[in-house]
Amino acid sequence: MKIYNSLTKKVEEFVPNVPGKVNMYTCGPTVYHFAHIGNLRSYLMEDVLEKLLRFSGYDVKRVMNITDVGHLSSDADTGEDKMLKGAKREHKTVMEIAKFYTDAFFADCAKLNIKTPDVVEPATNCIPEFIHMIEVLLEKGYAYKAGENVYFDTSKLDNYYVFGNQNEEELMVGVRDDVTEDENKRNKNDFVLWFTKSKFEDQALKWDSPWGVGYPGWHIECSCISMKHLGEYMDIHCGGVDNMFPHHTNEIAQSEAFAGHKWCNYWFHVHHLNDETGKMSKSKGEFLTVSLLEEKGYDPLVYRLFTLQSHYRKPLVFTYDALDQAAKTYKKLKNKIASLDCAGDVDEAAGKEWHDKFAEVVGNDVNTAMGLTLVYDVLKSDLNGATKRAVIDDFDYVLGLKLTEAADGKAGGGLGAGADSGTFNGNVDGIDDPDLVAHIEEKIAERAAAKKEKNFALADEIRAQLLAEGIVLEDTREGVKYHKG
Ligand code: AMP
Ligand code: ZN
Repeated sequence: MKIYNSLTKKVEEFVPNVPGKVNMYTCGPTVYHFAHIGNLRSYLMEDVLEKLLRFSGYDVKRVMNITDVGHLSSDADTGEDKMLKGAKREHKTVMEIAKFYTDAFFADCAKLNIKTPDVVEPATNCIPEFIHMIEVLLEKGYAYKAGENVYFDTSKLDNYYVFGNQNEEELMVGVRDDVTEDENKRNKNDFVLWFTKSKFEDQALKWDSPWGVGYPGWHIECSCISMKHLGEYMDIHCGGVDNMFPHHTNEIAQSEAFAGHKWCNYWFHVHHLNDETGKMSKSKGEFLTVSLLEEKGYDPLVYRLFTLQSHYRKPLVFTYDALDQAAKTYKKLKNKIASLDCAGDVDEAAGKEWHDKFAEVVGNDVNTAMGLTLVYDVLKSDLNGATKRAVIDDFDYVLGLKLTEAADGKAGGGLGAGADSGTFNGNVDGIDDPDLVAHIEEKIAERAAAKKEKNFALADEIRAQLLAEGIVLEDTREGVKYHKG
């Protein structure tokens, strides 16, 4: 697989730290409002990346934080506290707001067929971890106390601007609008690790710390939460382009200062969805949410298709005309698939060839538009209907468009569908030890689950384990049969 790496500004061959395994982290939402469909473009593309990695045989572990504390409305440690702002607006407590909008976020994700990451951790769960990291940064001389807050000292780094050649002024987007300069900072890009001296008298969430009662800065949460679950070496870190500076730059600064070595190898940034007037925001113009699209009669998966039609590294302009076009395309495509005559056997060898082709073509820097083209190529090919349907079903694990749903219930099945479905696990040579049977059945179920997740390496490993125990598995159209080897 190849992905564009914002650190090197090149499309690179993806090589994980541990062969076959991928540690992946996604900056999660700030839960003070509904997500707009721009935010969701980022999560959609990250979902495609994760599924593509699984499709290509990697064992992926993905972690996401939920920002429920400490994110100010300007990324540069000034402005209002976003969570407090949401709570005031709705006359609720900060925790009520966080719960409500976290649930709303995952409901939107479900509608868009975005898989929930393996680990989802709210920032408020990890205060001891934040305090520990800040203590280490102070001990190592990368942080200082001033005006009762703790700051990261960016002058201690040889290369703070890891993402590059942008000049400082360009990078100061978050700061430009600000009226107040924090006079405690030694360097203008130093950032807060822990606030005790808050300008918000009514700051709702506060914790005891070695520096007094207060709350963490925003950036520290992603460094700590990722390390808590993925360790000190990460493969891919994702977010929208606006996160590059200062958020990801600061994450790298503090994580590498803490760990004493390089932290994450690949940085995956999704470009913005804009409306016709420019950047989409939660406060300006029509607030575009998944629910709003539904109210207007659109299937949320039409929006998913709309985003897949363009490349994640290009800005995308949202218009209802473009969405209408996507709706038409979606309907036609699903009808075409539903009308396939699926009688006959699936050609597994051809299916494997198409699988590999998809992995290669879409695996070239997440080329989702080419993935859609491949669906049409399959439909035009001379494969039989059952195989076409099975191949499209296979692709749809990554595309996530529920393309074959309307065809479900008709004859035919997925690639190796009999084997995956586990409808019939046949013990064909009278293994009569019930404990052994239970053990084999359990392993067969684990293997089916691994295949479903496209984790073929694990599926093969399970089969090899059983073989080492003298049990042979055979995939048949009726299910998995097993016998003594
Ligand atoms: P937030 O909830 O504001 O922290 O943003 C959640 C995610 O959405 C982050 O990864 C942002 O970089 C991303 N994001 C924000 N605005 C847009 C946009 N207009 N298009 C695409 N992604 C966005
Ligand atoms: Zn983050």
